[in-house]
Amino acid sequence: QLGLGAWAYDRGEFVSAQAPRLPLSTQGLHYGTAVFEGIRAYRSHDGLHLFRAHEHYARMLRACRMLRITGIPATVGELVDITVELLRMNAHDGDVYVRPLAHKLSLLPGTPPGVSLAGVSDALSITTFGYPTAGDVQEVRCALSAWRRPPRDTLPAQAKIAGGYVTSALACDEARAAGYDDAILLDRSGNVAEATTANVFAVRDGVLVTPPDTGDLLPGITRDTVITLCREAGMTVLERPLSPADLYTAEEVFLTSTGKEVASVVALSGRDIGSGTAGPVAARVAALYRTAVTAQDAQEPAGGESRPEWLTPVLPS
Ligand code: PMP
Repeated sequence: QLGLGAWAYDRGEFVSAQAPRLPLSTQGLHYGTAVFEGIRAYRSHDGLHLFRAHEHYARMLRACRMLRITGIPATVGELVDITVELLRMNAHDGDVYVRPLAHKLSLLPGTPPGVSLAGVSDALSITTFGYPTAGDVQEVRCALSAWRRPPRDTLPAQAKIAGGYVTSALACDEARAAGYDDAILLDRSGNVAEATTANVFAVRDGVLVTPPDTGDLLPGITRDTVITLCREAGMTVLERPLSPADLYTAEEVFLTSTGKEVASVVALSGRDIGSGTAGPVAARVAALYRTAVTAQDAQEPAGGESRPEWLTPVLPS
């Protein structure tokens, strides 16, 4: 269960998270001209730490440049500081999910009506949710969606642009209506792009393979974390195109995202992947990931060391 924190950040102030304060004319709502992030903070023996918050906010600020969103705190450092302050105020018990949202707000005087980015004011809000971490590797059953990942000449794929999530919502909704947990989308050329909110990895002949970052998928921060940790642990990771058949015949398939962490895809469109249960490689990758996010050096057999540069402490005030 997600528990909304009592306080939120909204346009320069800390306010009650319950109070609806946006005008109905909010442009981001009408045109999807908003960008968001999903950041996790994990509690371990030495307190709460944000995981790779700098990389998440750097990605958000790049997306803001794309949408001409300028009227918000302009540096990664400021955004991280606001988030730390908000987490202190909300004092969640366990792990936390942080949701910053930057969006176009309203036409400035003199701007003609229309779907414009320039001449429209901007806003930033941040909300936090208690988000307990599942213990074991999650097992998900996916549908191969008929919806395609919009190509990069249709939507900037590197940015988490709110409007772009309509494709994800259609694909996820259809998959769930048909009894699956999630959907995997192909790109225009029929290669695997990503899941609705996660990147895809396959294990083939013991080697990890993930679609390359060619501009047609969101280069996930969890994807980067997993590639880095697995290579450090001596595993081979290739970034090369995957076809649907490559997934059907893989030993294992797993998804990576901030929200899902490492989730094993045990079936795809009614076919079991590998043994039809979470496999050993996904379990090992999940253990490496856990070590990194909880700032703890793992015991063998998972191995792995914590990386302080990925963690921002949220010390109680
Ligand atoms: N692809 C899409 C479309 C997503 O929404 C997400 C979640 N942000 C990801 C991939 C994974 O990104 P990350 O690992 O940075 O959470």
